[in-house]
Order: sequence, then C-alpha cells, then structure tokens
Amino acid sequence: MSERRYDPTHDEWVTFATHRQDRTYKPATADCPLCPTHPGGPATEIPRAHFEIAVFDNRFPSLSPTPPTPDVAGTDLVPVEPAYGHCEVVVFTDDHEATLASVGERRVRLLVDAWAHRFRALAADPRIGYVLPFENKGEAVGVTLHHPHGQIYAYPDVPPRPAREQRAARHHRDRTGRCVFCDVVAQEQGGPRVVVEGTHFLAGVPPWARFPYEVDVWARDHVGTMPELDTAARDDLARVLARVLAGYDEYFGFRTSYLLGVHSAPVNVPDDERGLGHLHLEICPPHRGGGKLKYLAGSETFGGAFLTDVAPEVAGPRLRDAAERATVPA
Ligand SMILES: [Zn+2]
Ligand SMILES: [Zn+2]
Repeated sequence: MSERRYDPTHDEWVTFATHRQDRTYKPATADCPLCPTHPGGPATEIPRAHFEIAVFDNRFPSLSPTPPTPDVAGTDLVPVEPAYGHCEVVVFTDDHEATLASVGERRVRLLVDAWAHRFRALAADPRIGYVLPFENKGEAVGVTLHHPHGQIYAYPDVPPRPAREQRAARHHRDRTGRCVFCDVVAQEQGGPRVVVEGTHFLAGVPPWARFPYEVDVWARDHVGTMPELDTAARDDLARVLARVLAGYDEYFGFRTSYLLGVHSAPVNVPDDERGLGHLHLEICPPHRGGGKLKYLAGSETFGGAFLTDVAPEVAGPRLRDAAERATVPA
C-alpha cells in the first residue's frame, strides 16, 4: 500500500508506504547494500568496485513516479491520491565506516554538486512542487542502514514545514519589504551564536533553536536553490558544512547523530512564490549533552511547541570552539 491521504483537521497530507516495513533493516556490514560490489562478491545497489558518490532511485520509495492505485477511495472530506513523487538515495562514500564528517571537504564539495544536479533534474518534473535533500544519521535517529548516505525526496506539493516558511517569509516581506532570512543573516553575523562564518554561507545556532545544538547554515546572498550557486559559493558551502559536522564530533566526543535537511525555494510555482525562498540547511542533533537525548514529547508532538533546555548563546560558543579545534580532512 502506497498512497497520500489528506488530513482536513490539520490541512496537511500524510503519506502511507507500508511496503517500507520490509526494507533492509540494520544489515550486517558484509550484507550492506550501499557498499561497492566487490569482484566475486554479491551484487549491491552499486555495481562498481569503487566510487566517490552514487545516486540511485530508492528501492523502497515512499513516493514514486509510477505509484500504485490507492487501496481506499477518498471522500470529499478525506481525499486520497496516489503517492506521486521521487525518492533517491545519495551514497556519500564507498567506505562503510566513514561519515559525512570524516569524508573530507573535497567529498562534501562533490556532494554539493550532486545535490545541485539532482535538484535541477527533479525540479524539471512539472508535477513536483518541492525537492528536499536530507540525511538521517545515527542510531539515535533510527537509521536502518549505517553506510553513510542521504536521501532526496521530491514531493508533489510543498510539505508543511517549508510551506510554513513560505508563509512566514511572505508575512515578513509584506511588513518590511525584505527577505526574512536575509534579515536573520544580517542580525546573526558576527554575533555570539555564530558557529562557522564563511564568505557565502553563515552557520549558527538560530536564536529560536528547537534542538539544543541545532545549527542552521544560511546562504548570505538571497539565493533560492543549489543550482543557482556559483563555484565560489559551492566551495564555501562545502567548507562551512564540513567544519560544522566535524565540530559536532569534536564537541560531543563521539559520532554525532543528527537530522540534516536542505530547505530551498519551491519549484514549479509562480515567480513571486519562488522568490520568497532562501536556501538554508537545518541540522538537528537529538543530543542534549551528558549522553542524554531529546525526544519529541507532549509539548512538541501535540502543541507543536518546542522546549529547548540549552540557551543558543551557550550552545553557539561551545560549537564554535569545537569547530575551530576540529580537524577537517581535505
Ligand atoms: Zn556499506
Ligand atoms: Zn533572502
């Protein structure tokens, strides 16, 4: 069963992908489907002995360009539609034991190109409304495959959180005439919450951080999507991102789990709507320090109201010091 159902009580779509229950769950290293195919060994997803970055269609997609007919008929109240879209897997390295924090700046730079390339390709489908690259990393956030990889989802509409950003950006522009993210960059640069200050990107703990050690990476210029970044901006994004991730491991003293998402302008929407988008990454580790984890509990789940127990002005300098100390492989 694979379908989208509309929740009229919250004005949002929920995707059902029950076949995903059968997907590969924490395989032994020897059975890793994302490792290279070793000569004479069993075939993996990647039919090469070595690779740098590999991108392919997810074999257990939530959204598909050829979705099955929904199992149930929709009603006026609760419409049901095929789960149209695209789900791709992006493997960061052929080294099973590496992480995005350890692969080095050059590889992260290649990843930025891969993200930009896939963004452009997926956005070319006129039925797509939003492209979301993300990485779920580590046991603490429930990953099923340990091999370093991310995913890219292309949705048929703008999902709730980016849609909310668009509304907030419109409200701010109506009020001030400016982009809210550009204003955030102007306010945060040089301040106590900055973690890594690049020439084209600024990384900092946002003043409103929902996770104690959340870091957002904002484009300094008003740019909506990765394909629009020139070479210098891509170089800088790779440098800033690699240092932020290395800084996490340095600060916590272990391989940090996190959720990382890339927010861009919506695609296949009117120019006015697209113009509100401002490229930024959000990185949310569940760690609170001292081995404790933050869970989404009652207030977050039912109130949509996050409670954070570390001040961003405290988290910022901690992460900045660690990022400065960290060794980032070339
Ligand atoms: Zn592997
Ligand atoms: Zn902007």
